[in-house]
Amino acid sequence: MPHHAKKRFGQNFLRDAHFVRACIDAIRPQAGDMLVEIGPGLGALTRPLLAQLPHMHVVEIDRDLIARLHAEFPPARLTLHEGDALRFDFSRIAGPLRIAGNLPYNISTPLLFHLADFSANIRDLHFMLQKEVVERMIARPASSAYGRLTVMLQYRFQILHLFDVPPDAFYPAPKVTSSFVRMLPLHPLPYPAQDPAIFAKIVAAAFSTRRKTLRNALKTQLSDQDFTALGIDAGLRAENLAVADFVRIANHMSVTHASR
Ligand code: SAM
Repeated sequence: MPHHAKKRFGQNFLRDAHFVRACIDAIRPQAGDMLVEIGPGLGALTRPLLAQLPHMHVVEIDRDLIARLHAEFPPARLTLHEGDALRFDFSRIAGPLRIAGNLPYNISTPLLFHLADFSANIRDLHFMLQKEVVERMIARPASSAYGRLTVMLQYRFQILHLFDVPPDAFYPAPKVTSSFVRMLPLHPLPYPAQDPAIFAKIVAAAFSTRRKTLRNALKTQLSDQDFTALGIDAGLRAENLAVADFVRIANHMSVTHASR
């Protein structure tokens, strides 16, 4: 029976053999890898991955697809985790994990934030995403694509755009061009935040209103005196700060707010 793609689960199945091969070549699976695929769907990537691996894991939300995968692959080859990848505890599987997938675009941003929490247990990630999201992930300061997603991901990962994939490589075809990307966790972090929660809060506040100066966007967190101590011009906007600057602000706050 044919599977009818479900829009609510962001189902756009990769059907172009050339791009399937390009993804597998980029992932380069090796026996012994602990590979987890997010959203295996009808198995376009799972099948060629399993041709090179004795065993792998998948996380899939759609019960109909889980049933198909269950019928095709024995448990000794494929461990099925039925459920929402956004809630999946990736520390349940002994790492270092290699995580891959043609991600459901409707949840790609929250999923990337969720995965960042497990970066210590991850060796690498290979994802198909909307090109526009990848542009934000690899953006440089002072560009329009540079924002909260950029800073939060570049804090933890080296991110490499590998290749673009046109809409007609998928069925049904999405409206936008996609890109395949590699993310490598930075071990150790080049600019570690003393308190990652404060760092996340500062980045979110700074980008909450793009047009505002840092003085206005961060007025409940930082005084003019704090900006002077940090050597950061309060008249700048969030998009002008590098990842290291946000870490400096967060670490300054960790110290000053603890002593206030
Ligand atoms: N990997 C397949 C391929 O390349 O053809 C399917 C990719 S399709 C873009 C996204 C897949 O993610 C679908 O199988 C969909 O059911 C699954 N999915 C959607 N939301 C999910 C979620 N929250 N957690 C886990 N899987 C999800």
